[in-house]
Amino acid sequence: MESFETIENEALPEVGAPENPKPEVSAVLERELAESDDEKFIALWRERQKELQKEVQANPEMRFNLPEKYAYRIITIMRQKLVEKFGGKNLEGIDWQGAVDFVREAGLPEAPFIIVDRENEKSDFLKITENIKGYPFEAVSIEESNTEAGKLRPEISNEECGGVYGSGLGMAVVFRRSTDEPIEIEKNLVHELTHGGRVEYSARGRFADNGVIIEGDDLGILMEEGIAGLMEYAFYEKKRGETKKACLAEMFHCDYFDSNNILSIEGQDGGFMPLPLKYLTYVNGNFSYSFSSCSGFIMELIFEAISGFKEKMIEARSMPDGVKIISRILDEYSPGLYSELRQPKCEVVDFAEKLAVVIKKTKGSMEELVAERNKNNDALRTFWEDKFNEEEADLHINIDNAKVHLDNYNNFGKTECLETAASCIAKAGAIMKFPYKFAEKYQEEYKIIKEKIDFYQARQPLTKQSSSAS
Ligand SMILES: [Zn+2]
Repeated sequence: MESFETIENEALPEVGAPENPKPEVSAVLERELAESDDEKFIALWRERQKELQKEVQANPEMRFNLPEKYAYRIITIMRQKLVEKFGGKNLEGIDWQGAVDFVREAGLPEAPFIIVDRENEKSDFLKITENIKGYPFEAVSIEESNTEAGKLRPEISNEECGGVYGSGLGMAVVFRRSTDEPIEIEKNLVHELTHGGRVEYSARGRFADNGVIIEGDDLGILMEEGIAGLMEYAFYEKKRGETKKACLAEMFHCDYFDSNNILSIEGQDGGFMPLPLKYLTYVNGNFSYSFSSCSGFIMELIFEAISGFKEKMIEARSMPDGVKIISRILDEYSPGLYSELRQPKCEVVDFAEKLAVVIKKTKGSMEELVAERNKNNDALRTFWEDKFNEEEADLHINIDNAKVHLDNYNNFGKTECLETAASCIAKAGAIMKFPYKFAEKYQEEYKIIKEKIDFYQARQPLTKQSSSAS
């Protein structure tokens, strides 16, 4: 294989520009900090931090060059306190050793972890992490909430969040409720421990918050979540795979399922998600998925398409310039793929959109993906054939309806007609979000109608304004 390091990629900024100004710490403060005990140190540092924030706001580049030794001391103190309070607790019934081994066996470094009882230990957790909120974590990103470390505190209040990897802290934190099944906790632990395999500081002192996949803020979060999602669901599959397969076999009246079979599961935006069985969780007869399912499947498709990329990516997560290596490989495979994956938000709807893009780029179409993954399963093949037919019929009807309502709008000028046309075309668009082969023949017509609707809709507020003014 060609050496990726030799290919220049000018589009990306240099990492950790060393010529940027570095904020000073006065000699007096320096001495005081060195001599103070932990509590005093934190108090002094918090004072200094306020000043630092002002300096950083005036010169954002400065955040990459903040004095690190104090950051490390704060981190060390915090980590110690967290381990003292929560270490070794809340492990009853949890196969945490299995989770730790699973991550280690994948060749990833071992990160420390704690499990926090969300119902009874929330206030203790918030109290200890009070100082984590500030420097050096705010320094990672001006928009603190966008970083994993900055999320450490708010996420315990977010019921949806099963855990977080504090990248500045270098520790995985998993939240537990009395209603959680052990497998949920174990799966989340594998996920967060996987994040521990990324680097926290680049060689030149710049935070690489979500590993090297990040350039700037969290632009590479989809890929980082992809690796974590892949690991999380591989562990889940190992433990629950057989139960899921048995349940499906009963549902579909057939005797064979495998982890790669593609199922259609109801999507959170009202559509559906095509996901392999292994990315689904199963509780009390219900299958569900998360953003990690989408990102995990995305990375699986990419790893499958580009040989050697998985190993390269794991290696690159600990290299200061790793993001460049990754982007070059992706763009060589398919121009623009890296930019497509620079997804800043960790949201299931956004990840689902990216999944559609990656299916198109790696498999060509939904039909090809489904045929390949379901070739051993007649029941699923029939299921998907029906599904494709249904979706095509739906697409056809919605485009036709949009056309009729648009004509009505043109003939009678009723706003309701335009609104109905817009909602029909949106439904058609939602179907076409996935790269269906059958959708190709509707592409042109869809585009023309949509443009017209958009045009009239853009004019609509003006008409309203002029009528209200008269
Ligand atoms: Zn994650």
